Amino acid sequence: MPKRFVIALIKHETNTFSPIETPLERFGHGHGPSFGRDARAAFEGSATPMAAYIDLARREGAEIVTPVAAESWPSAAASRATFETLVRPLEDALRAGCDAVFLDLHGAMVVEDCDDAEGEILRRVRAIAPRAPLAVTFDYHTNLSPETVRLADVITGYKTYPHVDMYESGLLAGSILIDAMAGRVKPVLTSGALPVVPSIMRHAPEDGPSGEILAIARAAEASGRVLAATLLPAFAHADTRYTALSVVVVGDAKRPGGEADAVAVKDQMLAVARARHREYAYVPTLLAEDVARARALGSDRRDGPVLLIDHCDNCGSGGTQDVMAVTEEILRQGLDDVAIAPIRDPLAVRKMIAAGVGNNVSLALGGATDMPSIGLAGRPLSISGRVRTITDGEIVFRGPMYTGLKSHLGPTAVLDTGRAQIVITSLHHEPFDLVILRHCGIEPTRKRFIMLKSRIHYRAGFKPIAADIVECQGAGVTSADLSTYRYARLPRPSFPFDPL
Ligand SMILES: [Zn+2]
Repeated sequence: MPKRFVIALIKHETNTFSPIETPLERFGHGHGPSFGRDARAAFEGSATPMAAYIDLARREGAEIVTPVAAESWPSAAASRATFETLVRPLEDALRAGCDAVFLDLHGAMVVEDCDDAEGEILRRVRAIAPRAPLAVTFDYHTNLSPETVRLADVITGYKTYPHVDMYESGLLAGSILIDAMAGRVKPVLTSGALPVVPSIMRHAPEDGPSGEILAIARAAEASGRVLAATLLPAFAHADTRYTALSVVVVGDAKRPGGEADAVAVKDQMLAVARARHREYAYVPTLLAEDVARARALGSDRRDGPVLLIDHCDNCGSGGTQDVMAVTEEILRQGLDDVAIAPIRDPLAVRKMIAAGVGNNVSLALGGATDMPSIGLAGRPLSISGRVRTITDGEIVFRGPMYTGLKSHLGPTAVLDTGRAQIVITSLHHEPFDLVILRHCGIEPTRKRFIMLKSRIHYRAGFKPIAADIVECQGAGVTSADLSTYRYARLPRPSFPFDPL
């Protein structure tokens, strides 16, 4: 009898300050979640933990059961009913019997009545399969609860930002679990947290303390001292009891001293985070100065575009993707040869489709969403131009992030104002792959300026082609300045609101 492996993906990065709702159909990037064979088909062969689990299970000759694969762009907390629709197929699959469970979770999912959705998923798995070997892979932006650590046998997380090692993270978690089932290792978890909420603009390894901490983790894994070591610098935009930087290490209790080594590595990683915690705080800039700096940088050089990063309105962290502040400033300062991607405005796209390619339109672009949590009202931008391109928004990522995975922008149109070409989509989508411009006929390497509604993930596709990068202080519910938000559940004291 082959072993029966249950493999499931339930992922939502919840921005509790976001005004964007999270209905069931938002999963599957606008096409709804996938179940059963469809779940496997949607992710098999992609650069994701789920795909790594499937590959491992196939190698082991196991029966592969994929009850659910559900991933959504970040947004507000999902309803209880939506969450139940995602979790119940997993429970049904476990009830039918399982020899091991492999979960591809986010780590910052909040449900309307539960601020630790991953903890609840593991609790429900354990209620049905109390002794089944259980591996979990988390996103880098995880708010880790002690209960999660108690219930899992193996936890790993991404070590990159942009996240280009999702597959490797799944492969590591899955391999450790399979080794444990064969009696080759005996995983033991140890974790710790610091009351520090790092601003996400300070998360990337090259930008703050994370690089040094991740180097310790990689060295400890490479030397065989521990099976896995993971830094989780938290998701600052989920206001929960567990929003804090944490570290989780998997030791091998089968090896003499293996458990003590895991504790030592965890302590070493946390010590660096403590010593350098001030570098995790973000210092806001001034939008007009940011854009002027980009303009000066792009004035004469032609060795690649200057990127302007509209990081306060990133749909990849729960932003509405329709705050027009940075676009308005770019137009006001007269930057020329600019591509802007993407503004989400389904109504504008409909108007442009009705007008047709080659015709002129006047639009009240973006600004359709109020953000009561931060006291910001939506304000559209009056703009005119020619409809340059219309597409169905169906794309396939070329990498290095999510390579091979299909995605959907919804009907998409390009507005050409003469100086700027603005990509307008119907669905939310963070621009981390050059395909977002190329699929609608804009060659990014030839632009003087490219404005991107992204925070860090743009670096996956766009950093290699950029001459310079300027972070622009716009507005929105992904503002890096954490004093923008009124936290209610975050434990205090917490840095940067209180001293550590
Ligand atoms: Zn992330």
